[in-house]
Amino acid sequence: MFMFLVRKAFEELYPNKETSHRFNLRYSRAFKGYNANVKYDKQNMEFRLSYEWKSVSDEIKIGLIQSLFNKVFKTNISTLNIDLYNTFLKKIPLLTPKIESDPVLEDSFYRVNEKYFYGMILKPNLVWGGDNFRTLGTYDYTTDTIRVSKILDNEPELLDYIMYHEMLHKKLKYRESKKRNIHHTKEFRKKEKEFDIPDIEKRLNRFLRKQRFKNHFSF
Ligand SMILES: [Zn+2]
Repeated sequence: MFMFLVRKAFEELYPNKETSHRFNLRYSRAFKGYNANVKYDKQNMEFRLSYEWKSVSDEIKIGLIQSLFNKVFKTNISTLNIDLYNTFLKKIPLLTPKIESDPVLEDSFYRVNEKYFYGMILKPNLVWGGDNFRTLGTYDYTTDTIRVSKILDNEPELLDYIMYHEMLHKKLKYRESKKRNIHHTKEFRKKEKEFDIPDIEKRLNRFLRKQRFKNHFSF
């Protein structure tokens, strides 16, 4: 039913390429936010888009599909539709309803926003994760959600540091369009060092060690 979109995306991206794949596109409730993926074997290639994509214009959807084609066929072709799609991605935080929040995380968010971002970062969803010692925080741009490990609940300074890190992701993610997947860029690391407690990494490690867990973590 939506195959023509995939066909059109393919033909515009690869005007001279033939493929024997049978294309399909369907909307899946398995995804949150504006997620999408592509599954394929030798005969079939199916694009699955979250329900949110239903109300997005075909022009942008074609850009999404072309981005996925670039991954499947290991090409790096740009098109007007891909540009539109990338512009759309940047606006997702504005489109995503902010429903989930927590007072402790909110306080931290506002402190950090005032101090380091002139209050310019729009509030994302703010949620606690489990008691995770390895992943202290994540930022998911598809749902505009910052998630922080529950172990930092009573550690306001460490919490602010992780919050700062994730807010930098929200702010810097799409700056470098050609290298979108490199999350911790030089610019990122430079900005991260602007946090006003110079030995915060040490404190964080000490805290994690004290919890008698490995001081090996990622965020
Ligand atoms: Zn990070």
